[in-house]
Amino acid sequence: MRYGLISDIHGNLEALSVVIKELEKRNVDAVLCLGDIIGYGPDPEECVNLVKRHANVILAGNHDYAALGLLDIRYFNPHARRAIEWTASQISEATRKFLKERPLMMVYDNFTIVHATPAEPEKWNYILSLEDAAENFDHFQNQVCFIGHSHVPVIIARDEQGKISVRKGNEIELQDREKYIINIGSVGQPRDLDPRAAFAIFDTEHKHYELVRVPYDVKTTQQKILQQGLPFFLAERLEKGQ
Ligand code: ZN
Repeated sequence: MRYGLISDIHGNLEALSVVIKELEKRNVDAVLCLGDIIGYGPDPEECVNLVKRHANVILAGNHDYAALGLLDIRYFNPHARRAIEWTASQISEATRKFLKERPLMMVYDNFTIVHATPAEPEKWNYILSLEDAAENFDHFQNQVCFIGHSHVPVIIARDEQGKISVRKGNEIELQDREKYIINIGSVGQPRDLDPRAAFAIFDTEHKHYELVRVPYDVKTTQQKILQQGLPFFLAERLEKGQ
């Protein structure tokens, strides 16, 4: 099976639309969404509806929870907080109900998916270092766990000896005796200094993982952000990919 993996769309309809087109072109069997469909961007309701139409599985992320009032946003930075308050006022009751019912983590086929961490999905911790990864490798039973949340794509492997390292490049063929935590990057707000939308394709038969980047119309999304009175910073960061 060939799976399309998407995460951290954050209300960016222009980015999501090109990613969905690309997934259709590449003939994936199913699409899985790892959460944060909303928050930050100008089209939360439209993005939820589009993901619902195209994804077979949808997890919740911390921004989805925050917009539902399920998360204390005092610790969000001011831009994120402002965007969450605006987002909460834009989404329908149906969307609210739908997001509330999403799981935080799941085993699908022969791999694990979660927005934040497999160890404690509900704490919304980040995996930003090899130490963070080390604490998480024993908390999923499959060979690979796909994550989102940091908006920075990375492939982290643990070999037979327990040595943990980052694998360079955008693709990898999984080796039988290794275990992996793979961050699939962000569709709608990449933060690895590449402004193009990110998503991934995982082929379970060939054990092949690939991160894909596609350009989208950043200017339109930026204009919408400003038109909605959302922080300038949220528009600016899109063109820098940070
Ligand atoms: Zn996010």
